[in-house]
Amino acid sequence: MFKELAAVYPGSFDPPTNGHLDIITRASKLFPKIIVAVTDNASKQHMFSLDVRVALLKEASAGLSNVEVVSFSGLLANYLEKINTFILIRGLRALSDFEYEFQMALMNRNLNKNIETIFLIPDQDYTFLSSSMVKEIAALGGKTTGLVPECVEKKLHK
Ligand code: ADP
Repeated sequence: MFKELAAVYPGSFDPPTNGHLDIITRASKLFPKIIVAVTDNASKQHMFSLDVRVALLKEASAGLSNVEVVSFSGLLANYLEKINTFILIRGLRALSDFEYEFQMALMNRNLNKNIETIFLIPDQDYTFLSSSMVKEIAALGGKTTGLVPECVEKKLHK
């Protein structure tokens, strides 16, 4: 049984996509509270600043009353300890995500045995969708309608 009321959905969300929003929406139906925790991923070069990514996620999830968007820095396991919440939500699009997500879930559990990772699968329309692909399309002048929330689309084409 889930004893916790809140679950954390961590990621870099650069930029947030409709795939991320699909996962947030699904998670918000499973838990009384979802904390979307935005961070900088050291292995990625970000297009949008942390503050902009937080603002975009806040705007895109405004219709979901039990979703809170925050930012954090440093080790996720330490952040979870700090807020005393140990359920993690991650999205799985395809088999190609599995290896990395599996490794990360086990490493997080290794860092803190209380951490449980729950994987959610998005609508099949979003299984091909990634932030990096959205950035590439926008950079080359392509349309991102239907791939990202409206506020993100506006920002991408500015
Ligand atoms: P990170 O840099 O931590 O991998 P991302 O913002 O790329 O952060 O992704 C956060 C989470 O959302 C990851 O679990 C990723 O697999 C998932 N995700 C990304 N795109 C999609 C999508 N289109 N559908 C479902 N889940 C997704």
